Amino acid sequence: MREFGTTIFAEMSALAVRTESINLGQGFPDTEGPQGLLDAATAAINGGVNQYPPGRGMAELRAAVAEQRAARYGLTLDPDTQVLPTVGATEGIASALLGLVDAGDEVIVFEPYYDSYAAAIALARGVRRPVTLRPREGRFTFDPDELRAAVSPRTRAVLINSPHNPTGTVFTRAELETVAALCREHDLIAISDEVYEYLTYDGTEHIPVASLPGMEERTVTLSSAGKTFSVTGWKVGWAMGPEPLVAAVASVKQFLTYSANGAYQVAVAHALRTELDWVAGLRASLEGKRDRLVAGLEKAGFTVFRPAGTYFVQADIRPLGYSDGLELAMALPERAGVVAVPSQVFYDDTDAGRPFVRFACCKRDEVIDAAMDRLARLRG
Ligand code: PMP
Ligand code: GLN
Repeated sequence: MREFGTTIFAEMSALAVRTESINLGQGFPDTEGPQGLLDAATAAINGGVNQYPPGRGMAELRAAVAEQRAARYGLTLDPDTQVLPTVGATEGIASALLGLVDAGDEVIVFEPYYDSYAAAIALARGVRRPVTLRPREGRFTFDPDELRAAVSPRTRAVLINSPHNPTGTVFTRAELETVAALCREHDLIAISDEVYEYLTYDGTEHIPVASLPGMEERTVTLSSAGKTFSVTGWKVGWAMGPEPLVAAVASVKQFLTYSANGAYQVAVAHALRTELDWVAGLRASLEGKRDRLVAGLEKAGFTVFRPAGTYFVQADIRPLGYSDGLELAMALPERAGVVAVPSQVFYDDTDAGRPFVRFACCKRDEVIDAAMDRLARLRG
């Protein structure tokens, strides 16, 4: 694991604290989740939900996830065998890769990719096959030919993340269908990270890849309460899919953490049933923050890709006269008192990622404004 060093999120948040910078790096909100959720967790803790949850997780959460999936997407899940609470989506992703990928199997992953994907593929002794998302008409997307060329006889799975961190792309039905067609043709598993499923903007629809023809039986989907309810530190996630695939995930998950966070699982179950109006408000508020950040970054001189979802905005630094996003991100705290994340750490093809820096919009308006005032001085 030496090559993976320290995750960029820990590194940049520590840098923000050390330099007393405004932290637009690591994606976490600076406001609280719904009071009903916080109260439900407190009540569960005070009510004695403090020992190991059952191995398959709390029944309340499994049932609430199945209800949510059916109501929102028309997808049917048996809560006992097709839903598995995990310690954040991170544990679900790692368990899926460890459970489904054998040594030497190839996993196609769209880059820039969330950093834990590469680490988890390595832990599984798999081989990552990146397909690069490139800017086209103001958003990041892939070339279907490049995707097709990445498939080999050793390909086992395609790892999809939509809404996508860090580009903010929400895959269209056509893009997902391109991926799905390959999965069907080559008998591949889709591992779909949908942690930002509720955080899409301008009416953009989130489409679960499992809802496409022939995909339900070959897709493991991961989601999490962290983004949906602004509780990233709770680490309550879940894996969903057909029974044999979820069983494979569970076989690994039980030995990573067994099961965790019973009180938080109960609270999240409650929120999935009662706080979706709050989530609609969060989405509207984040859309406004996205606009605020985009406008501020444009004013500061960046070329900005307006995200259709997630917490994040990708900015191209070249109009400001810079060429290396890693260098700029490391210098930014001293130079401007702002922390951002260099996107190139999410690429195998570092040249493709070099000009991009990621800023998080999930902060109070005054925090975004203060950061933008500081960045406005960059142009010098
Ligand atoms: N996937 C993506 C794309 C993410 O941005 C994050 C960030 N938190 C995760 C997974 C991890 O989710 P969790 O915090 O629930 O482990
Ligand atoms: N998902 C968050 C981000 O991309 C961070 C998660 C983490 O710190 N591991 O910023």
